[in-house]
Amino acid sequence: MISERDNLVFNTQRHFDIAADILDLDQGMRQMLRSPQRELTVRFPVKMDDGHVEVFTGFRIQHNIVRGPAKGGIRYHPLTTIDDVRALAMLMTWKCAYVNIPYGGAKGAVIVDPKRLSLSEIERLTRRYTSELGLLIGPDKDIPAPDIGTNGQIMAWVMDTYSMHAGHTVPAIVTGKPLIIGGSHGRNEATARGLSYILREAVEVLSMSLAGARIAIQGFGNVGATSARLLEEMGATIVALSDSKGGVYNTSGLSYSDVAEFKARNGTISGFPEGDRVTNAELLEVPCDILIPAALSSQINAHNAGQIKARIICEAANAPITPNADAILYDRGIFVVPDIMANAGGVTVSYFEWVQGLQEFFWTEREVNAQLERVMVSAFHQVLRLAQERHTSLRTAAYIQAVDRVAQATTTRGIYP
Ligand code: NAD
Repeated sequence: MISERDNLVFNTQRHFDIAADILDLDQGMRQMLRSPQRELTVRFPVKMDDGHVEVFTGFRIQHNIVRGPAKGGIRYHPLTTIDDVRALAMLMTWKCAYVNIPYGGAKGAVIVDPKRLSLSEIERLTRRYTSELGLLIGPDKDIPAPDIGTNGQIMAWVMDTYSMHAGHTVPAIVTGKPLIIGGSHGRNEATARGLSYILREAVEVLSMSLAGARIAIQGFGNVGATSARLLEEMGATIVALSDSKGGVYNTSGLSYSDVAEFKARNGTISGFPEGDRVTNAELLEVPCDILIPAALSSQINAHNAGQIKARIICEAANAPITPNADAILYDRGIFVVPDIMANAGGVTVSYFEWVQGLQEFFWTEREVNAQLERVMVSAFHQVLRLAQERHTSLRTAAYIQAVDRVAQATTTRGIYP
């Protein structure tokens, strides 16, 4: 067994290699698909509120654009690295191919702790970073979206900056925008809603039911908190929740609205009185039916994979399970729904937002959710069938489906010149 390494590129490439072996891809194709096509590193100054200048480093990486414009979020995080961005860009390629939307994969990041900056400093940083990315991004070239540390307001500044350079309004340059400037209904909830559709299908496969299922969720941000709310509405019992400061566990169930109110008042879930305190590591091992990691990568690794009690793990976060842990969980018969399947609802509704922007014709929330459900459910069952036929994990089957689509598109287009 290859030693456990907390390296997202290594882990993502390992999943790719497994699919490439099964698909019997030739060496040239593997080299084309295994590493990013374009990488841009930018260093740029920002005038801070007290007048001094700070220089920040940012990235935009396009892993592959064979099936369409590059698509992927922008992350603001102090510990982000170019390797993280490479891996996340690659995951976007597979995610878009898995749901069969006409995009390639990209990711962007700035090494910054946004909590340390004022709102006006974040605005200036965003506008300058957008100008620097002007070489690569565009509504038919590369379309950013929010990710950890960024939000709709930041997307609005990206759109405004790009539009100022263009001399006219370009709504389709970003997704995840506020509704008032061309965002889509349902986009904020899309990742969690997509995940809830997938979980509904997954429990049926295992002859379980969401009603009364005990669910533990790590992370209480956009995806984690919204998943808790939607799954509670579907009858599940949320037994554990956490954020970066720690979590709470209660076998009789936690009320989403009580926890959300507590977090709004105190800035954290940690210390919520109706339950026992747990650390983020302990949360992963609590007795439950479904575990949803919705925070950071590499949370479930070879050290704790043997202690997980859930029957289903649904990867809301990107790459929360390392490849070695994946193998352990597969041997233990735990049903893992991989990130590119579980959290593809976000990019799917981003695609709907882009389409609506280009057509200047907007859908109701009901229409958005119905289309999302159609895409998520049909992709899930296609890959489930493939996994059953090939006797593989869902992750390997999803990679086979996605990598095969990108490889076929590459072959069909041919190599230029
Ligand atoms: P977010 O910033 O809104 O929330 C992140 C949450 O994780 C916060 O509650 C934070 O307190 C918590 N957290 C941070 N460090 C933690 C730690 N060490 N242990 C436990 N919790 C910790 O981000 P989000 O948009 O909800 O994204 C969460 C994950 O889902 C990320 O991996 C992201 O890439 C992935 N994702 C998000 C979307 C989307 O549409 N937002 C789409 C696809 C994938």
